[in-house]
Order: sequence, then structure tokens, then C-alpha cells
Amino acid sequence: MLLFEILFKIFSFTCSLSLVFLVEDSSTLCFFQLYWRNMHQLISLKAPMFFLLFSFIFLQAGIPDKKRGKSAKVSWDYIVPVKFPSSINKSSGVEAGKLPAHLLTDIKPYGKLHFRAADAWHAMRAAAKADGVKLKPTSAGDCYRSYSSQRSAFLTRFQLEPITNAVTRHFEGKIWYLKPGFAPLASPGTSNHNWGLAVDIFNASEQSRIRWLIDNVERFGWSWELVPAEPWHIRYVCGDDVPQEVQDWIAANPTLASEPPESEESHSLNLDNH
Ligand SMILES: [Zn+2]
Repeated sequence: MLLFEILFKIFSFTCSLSLVFLVEDSSTLCFFQLYWRNMHQLISLKAPMFFLLFSFIFLQAGIPDKKRGKSAKVSWDYIVPVKFPSSINKSSGVEAGKLPAHLLTDIKPYGKLHFRAADAWHAMRAAAKADGVKLKPTSAGDCYRSYSSQRSAFLTRFQLEPITNAVTRHFEGKIWYLKPGFAPLASPGTSNHNWGLAVDIFNASEQSRIRWLIDNVERFGWSWELVPAEPWHIRYVCGDDVPQEVQDWIAANPTLASEPPESEESHSLNLDNH
């Protein structure tokens, strides 16, 4: 019986210890501290039983999160790489922030996006509206951003004179430091806003809006880029593989959907003219 009790305590202790590494959660650490403080109580079998039970519960809760990666605890942590539409991929010759007009579509209620992202935006916006959730960009400049507008915004927010512990960016071969009180911004030419694939949603973290976005962005081909830092910044990630939901919206709204892009010849002609 004594041997059984000792083995039981060792097992319980191991479970509790493993918890600290599995679940980096303050409540678990509290249990662990409690465990140590009340060592004398462990003479009875009740305490190990108690901890074994909690160990089991926490292990069950902790393991799936570990498997999915730590950030899986954030329910809106949906981040996938951006697939570029062929019209703006590397071989297209189009530069970031310098998209020809025929690739850009005006979106509702204001701003412009690459035509693929524009259709996905309109489809998502209509679905949100049907569910009583309003979606709009924070401003017209927070959809497609030209290189020059990204550059002027960047120069307003960043300086060359070093600031301790400031956010830094590389631009034009130099290190730039974020001025106090300004939100970070990507270096000109490196933001998905420069490709017309990103949009910043007004008041994204409002409870019903973020809940709706969590449940629906994927269906319309969007994902986040930085969570939890930037809940408002979503990018269209499906390239030319238009999601079914967006195809359905295009079929139902042929007059609102973007015109198909012009041919390669007229495209390069267009670039020559700019
Ligand atoms: Zn953004």
C-alpha cells in the first residue's frame, strides 16, 4: 500500500511538472505553487488524487494547443501566405505601388483594390451586410496605396536619427526608426497595400465585427497578417483561384463585378504610356 502511495505521488508530481511546460498559463502555475506550499498535506492520498485529476484536465486542454502551435489559442489566428494574381506576379513586370489603372477597381464605399481583391471585398461586404455587420476601410488610403503615398506616409512616421528600442525598418539601404506616437508602417514597396491586396477594416476589433470576420474571412479568400497586433489588416490571399463564395457573388452581380483584365499586349502598352 505504501509503495502504491509513493508511486501515485510521483506520478501526480510528474503530471503537475509537465503541466508547467505544456500549459504556460498563470492558473496552472498557481496550482503548481499551491502544490509546493501544501506538501505536508500530501501524506494523505486525497491531495495527489486532486492534482492528478487537475493534471489530467489540464493535459487534455494543453496538448491539442501544443500540437496546433502556441498561437492557436487566438481564435482569429488565421494567417496564410499571399498568392499573387498572375497580373501582378514577378514575371508581370508590374511594380509594387505602381499598378496600372486597368488592374485597379473602385471599391465600396471608397478606395481601390486589385480587381481580384475588389470582387472578394464586395462579396464579403455583401455577406456581412446581410448578417447586420457593416464593413468599410479605415480610409481610402488604407486599401491600395501608391508607392509615392506609402513613401510620404513612411517619411512622416520614421526618422534616420536612432531612437532606443524603437521599431526599425530598412528602406533605401538605411535603417529608419519609428517616431514615438506613430503606428508602424511597412517600407515603401513591401506592403500588400502597394499591390492592392490588403485592406484595413474600420473598427475591426469591435466585438460583433471581429466575431463575424473570424467566422467568414476564409470563405472569401482573406486572411490576417499580424495577430493580435493588427486585427484590422487583412489581405486577399487566393490569387487567381477565386473562392466559390466570390464566384457566386460575381454570377449574381455581373454589373458590379470587376471587368476581366485587358490582354497582355494592351497591358504592356498601358505600362509604356505611364
Ligand atoms: Zn494595413
